[in-house]
Amino acid sequence: VLKPGTAEDVAAIVKIAAEHHVPIVPQGGNTGLVGGQVPDESNEQIVLSLTRLNAIRAVDPVGNSITVEAGAVLQTVQEEAERHDRLFPLSLGSQGSCTIGGNLATNAGGTAVLAYGNARDLTLGLEVVTGTGDIWNGLRTLRKDNTGYDLKDLFIGSEGTLGIITAASLKLFPLPRTQKTAFIGLSSPDAALTLFNNAQKLAGAKLTGFELMPRLGLEFVLKHGDAMRDPLSSAHDWYVLIEISSGGNEEETDQLIMAILEQAFEADTIEDAALAQSQEQSKQFWKIRHLMSEVQKQEGGSIKHDISVPISAVPAFLSKATEAVLKMVPGCRPVPFGHIGDGNIHFNVSQPVDADKNAYLALWSDMNALVHAIVQEFNGSISAEHGIGKLKQPLLSQFKSPVEMQLMKSIKQALDPKGIFNPGKVL
Ligand SMILES: Cc1cc2nc3c(=O)[nH]c(=O)nc-3n(C[C@H](O)[C@H](O)[C@H](O)COP(=O)(O)OP(=O)(O)OC[C@H]3O[C@@H](n4cnc5c(N)ncnc54)[C@H](O)[C@@H]3O)c2cc1C
Repeated sequence: VLKPGTAEDVAAIVKIAAEHHVPIVPQGGNTGLVGGQVPDESNEQIVLSLTRLNAIRAVDPVGNSITVEAGAVLQTVQEEAERHDRLFPLSLGSQGSCTIGGNLATNAGGTAVLAYGNARDLTLGLEVVTGTGDIWNGLRTLRKDNTGYDLKDLFIGSEGTLGIITAASLKLFPLPRTQKTAFIGLSSPDAALTLFNNAQKLAGAKLTGFELMPRLGLEFVLKHGDAMRDPLSSAHDWYVLIEISSGGNEEETDQLIMAILEQAFEADTIEDAALAQSQEQSKQFWKIRHLMSEVQKQEGGSIKHDISVPISAVPAFLSKATEAVLKMVPGCRPVPFGHIGDGNIHFNVSQPVDADKNAYLALWSDMNALVHAIVQEFNGSISAEHGIGKLKQPLLSQFKSPVEMQLMKSIKQALDPKGIFNPGKVL
């Protein structure tokens, strides 16, 4: 494991590695969910940890930008922005450990994509060590720059296969003055979609969170989470966590979220709702959502799918995929949750109660194939935000056309002619 302290160190390492054909596996916070940051078992790969490159290089509150090194932890960048009365909106459950380099290399999504976009949308410029060991300084903070090919977009989402990101210039936003969160019980994903459309009509860009969770997910949180409480007094089949953020005062934000809820009650779109009365309560609501994945571990094996479909197709996808997995493994327990406002659902399926965990997990590929075929019917994606890495590398060519695969291979060949960057990942 090599831990360089500067971009120049990274460049020197890449030059030596290229000369001797030694594969490099870039690693940030090691929170990736598809194994992209993990070396193979040959004992011949270098793990290049970027964690020592963690300086905040510059903050420009007037130009709304921040320039940070790749190993800076996401939460540190959020806090630095806040110190300047600005918001860096990228928000993930792993934000206390994941790094900006890893976020950009995976084009991370998270809970704020709805209002602010994913990591790609938040990037103004990059500094990258290329396959020849040169440093490309593309740390521009321009909002408009149409001078030829947009190289930064090649490296974003490339999962360490095209170059090593050493620093990035990122967008900042005004810090919202007020935020309101509500935890809502409803009967179906269809109702959630109706609520989403109406909430967006009323709140526009102020709608900054819209997360869907099933009853079973909440039950797992109540059972395994530490001192967690059901925000509502009776059970509902589905839940939505909704967040409104505004530069206006408390009263205006209250009125807006109340208007959304009142309209939804009148139209019978929702069954019940709890409005967070304090920041603490709002954090508790978000904690339920953030625990959704972790608590599934306590329920035995869970077969996971990080998929997206067009937003309007989410209810139909959920009903078809649920029916299919139940037919394949009677008694399995689907816990689909996620960013319904982006059409991104984490379609996780817990094992039947008392089933053998290993025997259940042996069905991983078969269940993936079943669910991914349904995703394809809806023109969706088999990896909405976690990337391809090692885990989904064998699947990529099944879901991309030969033309698309060839274009990707040509780019890889051009930028990494020696094939040293993260071999066996993505392509
Ligand atoms: C609890 C939890 C919640 C999560 N929630 C979300 C979520 O909501 N949305 C989401 O998108 N992801 C989520 N993730 C996945 C993960 O946190 C993100 O993919 C994150 O962006 C990875 O950052 P990292 O620094 O840990 O990267 P790593 O895991 O170290 O690496 C990830 C990939 O990026 C490459 N890489 C890392 N640094 C660099 C660099 N400097 N230059 C080039 N390549 C590099 C690696 O080679 C690897 O392919 C979650 C993970 C956990 C554990």
